[in-house]
Amino acid sequence: MRFVYGPVPSRRLGRSLGINVIPFKTCNYSCVYCQLGKTTNLINERRSFFPKEDILKEVAEVIGRVETDHITFAGEGEPTLCKDIGWLIEEIKKITDKPIAVLTNGSLLFREDVRQDLAEADVVIPSLDAGDERTFRRINRPHKDLRIDEIIDGMIEFGKEYNGKFYVEVMLVKGYNDSEEVLFAIKSALERIKPDGVYLLTPVRPPASNVEPADEIGIMRANAILGDVVRVIDPEIGEFSTECFSSAEEAVKALLKRHPMREDQLKDFLGKFGEDLSFVESLDGVKRVEFMGKVFYLYKP
Ligand code: SF4
Repeated sequence: MRFVYGPVPSRRLGRSLGINVIPFKTCNYSCVYCQLGKTTNLINERRSFFPKEDILKEVAEVIGRVETDHITFAGEGEPTLCKDIGWLIEEIKKITDKPIAVLTNGSLLFREDVRQDLAEADVVIPSLDAGDERTFRRINRPHKDLRIDEIIDGMIEFGKEYNGKFYVEVMLVKGYNDSEEVLFAIKSALERIKPDGVYLLTPVRPPASNVEPADEIGIMRANAILGDVVRVIDPEIGEFSTECFSSAEEAVKALLKRHPMREDQLKDFLGKFGEDLSFVESLDGVKRVEFMGKVFYLYKP
């Protein structure tokens, strides 16, 4: 499978069947906490990266044989850079009644075509890690053409027009966006965006740069300032599914590329194929890294 992976356990969406519509690390941000590593293709133009019919064909092949709570556009970069996303959402809705979610950095919601493309999704979750330009540039390291004020205005506009569930997530990174001043700027933006809810997250997988999750004091400060938030700070639980894959190697590479796994998760996953950790250690491109006292495996093609 080239475009579809999982289902994977998600901290917000339960069992989530992932759809990737973007080449590896193609994004208009290069967030310090990105679990995919540094952005190698920093672009801000929307394009068709792959034939949209091929993506739909794969989704149609998988959809009837997996148990999933959501079908989620996420994956290897920013999904709204794919200009076929609206067509894909529309076509997938014709073949399933499973809810469709889009995890996005929200940077292009100021564009009418992007807002229209996401209008038929059931859940849209943009991220907002800063309310001021300086923090935005530090934590998200965006394309030079992007401005936080314009992005916040786009989210406000989207919130007014959109009829589905609309949540904003804030990733809290120690020393970047956990101070009072920065959190008050985020709060003021959220008050204007008026989402249905706010998720407060911390990085739980190895990040692109040498950063750490906010500590308990930072999380409490954020909770106190941002108010009514859902804290999603524990690692996800649940199984990674093998249903989409025909071999252990295909499965391990597809998942570890998009979703670094903890050692315990990977052991369980490999057990379903009758393999153990020595199998992944023999694969080119698979790396073992430590983060916050835990061992993770990731794959860099
Ligand atoms: S976290 Fe998302 S928005 Fe940030 S660099 Fe990674 S893919 Fe792009």
